Amino acid sequence: MEPDFYRELAKAELHLHLEGSIAPATLRELAPQVPLEEIERRYRYADFSGFIESYVWVNSFLNTPDDYAFVARRLLESLAAENVQYAEINLSAGVILWKRMDLTRVYEAVDAEAARSSVEVRWILDAVRQWGPEKAMEVARFAVERRKDGIVAFGIGGDESRGHCDWFSDVFAFAKAEGLKLAPHAGETCGPESVWSALRQGADRIGHGIRAVEDAELMRELRERDIPLEICISSNVATGATPSLEAHPIRKLYEAGVPIVLNTDDPPMFHTTLSREYEIAATRFGFSRTELSRLAANSFRYAFVKQEPR
Ligand SMILES: [Zn+2]
Repeated sequence: MEPDFYRELAKAELHLHLEGSIAPATLRELAPQVPLEEIERRYRYADFSGFIESYVWVNSFLNTPDDYAFVARRLLESLAAENVQYAEINLSAGVILWKRMDLTRVYEAVDAEAARSSVEVRWILDAVRQWGPEKAMEVARFAVERRKDGIVAFGIGGDESRGHCDWFSDVFAFAKAEGLKLAPHAGETCGPESVWSALRQGADRIGHGIRAVEDAELMRELRERDIPLEICISSNVATGATPSLEAHPIRKLYEAGVPIVLNTDDPPMFHTTLSREYEIAATRFGFSRTELSRLAANSFRYAFVKQEPR
């Protein structure tokens, strides 16, 4: 398939972190004092903890609402250029609160950028799971207050092994009762039990969830309840969540009828784009043009605000 096919395919992104979407050139614009070689070195890692370290480092350059708005603008430009028409973007609200920044001002700044873009944007506010349920509740409360202003969901990310979904049952119950969708990361670095736990908490979509492949009953449950996995192939390879590209379970999950959507997670940090993820699915996992179109249709179908491709 010609490269234009992947770019021109109308797509939506459902698993993407604003703070992980800062291209080296954008970081240079934001922090001209940092040498390009250092940025390139920081954007390479051997495992998940190395990636988190770099993610925190990149985050340290976001110090004002304008900084956040600027990186949002650059991200939305790059999404528009590859025909991503709709995006649900994770904002690490937990980290913004931890930095003692004014979350309202940051949110208003990024949402104003979104309003100027041709890409339709909704936001998922993300808490850091290893900081526990109390901090997560602060994020959920803010998300609930701004629910009508473009925030559609609450999620948790960070170190899965140090923040079981079950810890957050009150937070998830509160967010859900107040009308938010739930999009926790689960089954990325931890096994099927982590995905089961996310389902018990009422998850509407699962961030990654690739380890569901180890549990036939879990795959059946996801299929029957029509709960999609937000698959991010290059991310899983870069963080070591899967031992190699060849070992990635996307094909097995798809064959088992588990609903899946292709995403990038943190595109420049994983040296990818959404078009590239579709290309990898085609060239490395044998997805036909019809199957790719089906995955692209899924990206709209499983959006929290129902969308039609333009
Ligand atoms: Zn993620």
